[in-house]
Amino acid sequence: MKKRRSKKCELCGVGERVPFAYLVKREIDGRTYTAEVPATRCNKCGEVLISGPGLVLFDSALTVQLARSGSIGPRGFRWLRGRAGLEAKKLAALLDVSPGTVSRWENGKKPLERRAVALVASLALEALGEPASTRDLLGQLASGRKPGRRVRLDVPRVAGG
Ligand SMILES: [Zn+2]
Repeated sequence: MKKRRSKKCELCGVGERVPFAYLVKREIDGRTYTAEVPATRCNKCGEVLISGPGLVLFDSALTVQLARSGSIGPRGFRWLRGRAGLEAKKLAALLDVSPGTVSRWENGKKPLERRAVALVASLALEALGEPASTRDLLGQLASGRKPGRRVRLDVPRVAGG
């Protein structure tokens, strides 16, 4: 554990850091994902520090939500590929498509293929150590069900911040 007990502001050296809940927002394919993440604000200079582990948990929760949503667009596909730790070229090789195809999927110039989306979603979940049933993911994608425009993520609480 890092020693982070000092509440004094490192920036101005006079203020005290006051905890508050910072609303993190990320927009992917026209859908906004939000969650509150622990943060502190200096009561003198106003500098805001957002919890690093909190942001990591936010991104993980977003990845899980997106992968299982059954509604994945070009940006979401790109996000999941990144979370799976795959470069576009590597993914192209794994799927036996040209790198140009992956690039066109991700910039919306070519419709996404459901099996590619399911595979990338599955790989992203696996990279997080989350259970990933390819059959369920395909079923969800086939259902055509769409979550709302605003998705509130359930981000586990982190100590400190
Ligand atoms: Zn300060």
